[in-house]
Amino acid sequence: MIHKPLIFAAISDIAGKTRGKAFPASDMEKRLRRGLGWTPTNVMITCFDAIAESPYGALDDLLLVPDADAGVQIDFADGGPVERFMLGDIRDLDGEPWECCTRSILKGALQRLERVGGVELVAAFEHEFQFRQQAAPGQAYTLGGFTQRRRFGEALIAALEQAGLTPDTFMKEYGASQYEITNGPRRGVRAADDAVILRETVRMTAARHGEEATFTPIRDPAGVGNGVHIHMSFLDAKGDPATWSPDGPSGMSALTGSFVAGVLKYLGAFIALTAPSDISYLRLTPHRWSAAFNNLGLRDREAALRICPVSSVDTQSVARQYNIEFRAADAAASPYLALAAIVHAGAQGLEEGLSAPAVTQEDLSLLSASELERRGLVRLPQSLDEALRRFEANNTVRDWFPGDFAEIYIAHKRGELAFLESMNQQERCAAYEAVY
Ligand code: GLU
Ligand code: MG
Repeated sequence: MIHKPLIFAAISDIAGKTRGKAFPASDMEKRLRRGLGWTPTNVMITCFDAIAESPYGALDDLLLVPDADAGVQIDFADGGPVERFMLGDIRDLDGEPWECCTRSILKGALQRLERVGGVELVAAFEHEFQFRQQAAPGQAYTLGGFTQRRRFGEALIAALEQAGLTPDTFMKEYGASQYEITNGPRRGVRAADDAVILRETVRMTAARHGEEATFTPIRDPAGVGNGVHIHMSFLDAKGDPATWSPDGPSGMSALTGSFVAGVLKYLGAFIALTAPSDISYLRLTPHRWSAAFNNLGLRDREAALRICPVSSVDTQSVARQYNIEFRAADAAASPYLALAAIVHAGAQGLEEGLSAPAVTQEDLSLLSASELERRGLVRLPQSLDEALRRFEANNTVRDWFPGDFAEIYIAHKRGELAFLESMNQQERCAAYEAVY
């Protein structure tokens, strides 16, 4: 049989889904120039395939324009087809970024950071996922658990390298059938591109092994969550590290301090974009090694932001290694939107000249309400509904986003919640597991 290679032009949308359409590889030049037709109402397709109430209806046209720098080709060399896809942007017919193009929204946030802070963002995404197939218990962090998926892990690393990524580590995580794959740091929008590519490559690699991987935020209300942790650092105009300062509080440069303070100040109002599913809030509870408060932890894995340890004493390497980890995200979020919200919050902190917050190194769930208040710490929203209301009510945060994006986002998410209305927690977890 003769096959003509197809390339899938893709975006990562509000639902955190990679959607798009394919074109013959022989049309590449034309498609890079002209894009492919796209429909505004697609932005209202929830993760459950139901279409939330759309202001666009059946009207209007857009273009999905693949980016030549974000192309992926993976040959698994297993007799199956070569995978080809390209990430891109959604533009209107005049070529301007569309208000709901998540990738363009991130580019806007990164430009703002560059404008107000004079720095470029470097980010690395750490992903947890689980195989649907149940594994034997007692395998947390074990060689046995790793060995069970060695063939998968080695195929995954090879596939990610073919896709142009720099995978860092692969391990058997704590949860049942749970694994973690960490990607190397990348500059700017490419870090989020890598996260999209990584999720899809994990799914493809699992499928080639006759398995299924899920990135759902949490599979079982009593179980462990699948987090997405985003490590961030900054480079100045000369390309030198600007995150660390030997005299700064816990090593934070003044810029890092303000950035972090902005993230913590606005977290409650933007968390609907980083933890965007109904069940994300089952994960964001104390004692799950995720994030329940708006705190900055020093080597503490129960913090919304964590100052990561560095394994060096020489100042140049410390300056390069030093990074801040955002832990209140999961893979129901488009990496573009999650990162855009964090970067806008950080840039806001810089604009407001906020000073570095105090670091915590204790179990905040044990503190009294008055002690939390005294320290300026607040419990993060405990449901998507509450998170959406906080987003809706905060004009500063809404104004970070172009045009009607905030309204569209909220309407989309309310449509998603309506789908779940009659379900209990267990059923909601199952519904999300089926689609992420
Ligand atoms: N599974 C935890 C989460 O939901 C993270 C565990 C860890 O890697 O520290 O974020
Ligand atoms: Mg982990």
